[in-house]
Amino acid sequence: MATNVAAFPLRLVDGRRLERRLRDVLMPGGILCDHAGQARVLPRYFYEVTSWEEARDTYLSPHFSVSEFIHTDVREAPPLRVFPRYIPCATALLALALEQFRDAVGTYVYVGANGGYCSPRHARIGGASPHCWGTAANIYRIGDTYLDSHDSIERFANIARSVLPTAWTRPLGPADAYTDDHLHLDLGYVVSVPREAPGETFNLKLAGDPL
Ligand SMILES: [Zn+2]
Repeated sequence: MATNVAAFPLRLVDGRRLERRLRDVLMPGGILCDHAGQARVLPRYFYEVTSWEEARDTYLSPHFSVSEFIHTDVREAPPLRVFPRYIPCATALLALALEQFRDAVGTYVYVGANGGYCSPRHARIGGASPHCWGTAANIYRIGDTYLDSHDSIERFANIARSVLPTAWTRPLGPADAYTDDHLHLDLGYVVSVPREAPGETFNLKLAGDPL
């Protein structure tokens, strides 16, 4: 079958080759510790987004454009509040999950401000949040329903877990570790390495003896 689909337009970048001020806030391939003190390896490869127009016009799945995942405010690190912006490659997997969720609820799914990708230097990030992996979304509205009650959050969290059995949803409650004004769902600490990403030169000495 003939297809006429344009190539994905965003440039793939190796975060370790970005300039210092960006490396300092994206921490490509760096480590964040989770609340249990376990080290988690951050994403190294990102898609570069050059403008709002590009973010709005570039879709990661049929209904979710890049712009849905980069609404941040003054709490984001200053180098990431201007273009070019960067999203971890795994954001595309989150978009696929949200597509599945949207299909299940049969209506629009809205991701809130600071509810998509947040850098490890975002002021609201304390430790390893999957938001720093681009694999978490804070959903504040579904169709005409605002997720501001335990009933609505729980109802949609149940739907999310039924169609995305391995996804995690934040429990209900008022404290920091809980939610009472949005549905947080995430895929965990997923790192995506697209085929075209440059790899490392294999070094037998570093890799150790082959088994
Ligand atoms: Zn969240």
